[in-house]
Amino acid sequence: MSSSFLSGFSASLKTVTLAFVLRLCLALLLPPAAAGQEPSIPGFPEIPIDATEDQVRQRVALVRAGEKLTPRAWPNGARVAVCLSFDVDNELLWRRTPLPVPLSQGEYGATTGLPRILELLDRQSVPASFYIPAMSAALDPQMIQEILRGKRHEIGVHGWMHENLPMVADAAKEEKLLTQSIEYLTKATGKRPVGFRAPSWAFSESTLEQIQKAGFLYDSSFMAMDEPYKLLSHGQDTRMIELPINWIADDYPYYEPQAAGSLPDPELVFDVYKGEFDVAYQERTTFILTMHPHITGHRSRIAGLEKLIVYMKSKPGVWFATLDEVAEYVKAQQEQVKR
Ligand SMILES: [Zn+2]
Repeated sequence: MSSSFLSGFSASLKTVTLAFVLRLCLALLLPPAAAGQEPSIPGFPEIPIDATEDQVRQRVALVRAGEKLTPRAWPNGARVAVCLSFDVDNELLWRRTPLPVPLSQGEYGATTGLPRILELLDRQSVPASFYIPAMSAALDPQMIQEILRGKRHEIGVHGWMHENLPMVADAAKEEKLLTQSIEYLTKATGKRPVGFRAPSWAFSESTLEQIQKAGFLYDSSFMAMDEPYKLLSHGQDTRMIELPINWIADDYPYYEPQAAGSLPDPELVFDVYKGEFDVAYQERTTFILTMHPHITGHRSRIAGLEKLIVYMKSKPGVWFATLDEVAEYVKAQQEQVKR
């Protein structure tokens, strides 16, 4: 085979991969209306096609992107901040259909996925942030102890029961669950969490106000930029730092049953993540990867993740940090600029 054929083949493979990711993102993000059903999210009715510009502005104003917060330089002159993050959902992903076999798929996160991830992080001496629903931690309390043993990781809030916040549809109930979650993790870790990641990345009308009131330093649930930014609500600075995530740098769409085995190869996932990291490195911003112990914790996938970490470590000027370290740094830089 000629090399031009091979490079053509590799280019078309990349195109196919990209097309797959885009298709999947669309499928995940399109509201049910696109499938001919009425959207049924309480408090979020459809924006009518004859809405005025003002009405549309009002409807998108609840959470908007403000100023970019990437500092002029990362610590020690690093070019990029890399955050590995894990949402420890485990069994709670099947809360609404708690059949024994799917539950065991989640339990794998506690028995095998998390220990394997922690071993990898130790081997590579890199930190990570773990977002844990309180009930996941209660089912397997050893997880928090195992994470804390590494002494370099962060634990943040990810709901009480991995509840979908807009579906709770009751601000007081939502606030109670948030308070309980903070209290649970504070007690279990000995430190009040400073980071919030919404279960299923879903915010209700009240979530932003509630996490602001609870004193969180940062959120990591939005996708309006590829770098840290300020969260605005109705045009006002909420003083919350957003450390954004996105579906491309997430293990769920590639490996979960919805992907129907269409992209099971950790090598292809490695290529996508590497492409995201390479541009973050060029742009001197952040690369935040979201994974799940019960998904990425499987054998072949851990090997893919280790390959990625080794690749990133081979580049000069890569700062591996927890999200709270990045948020603290961004905040300190902002305060210096103001002075
Ligand atoms: Zn989750």
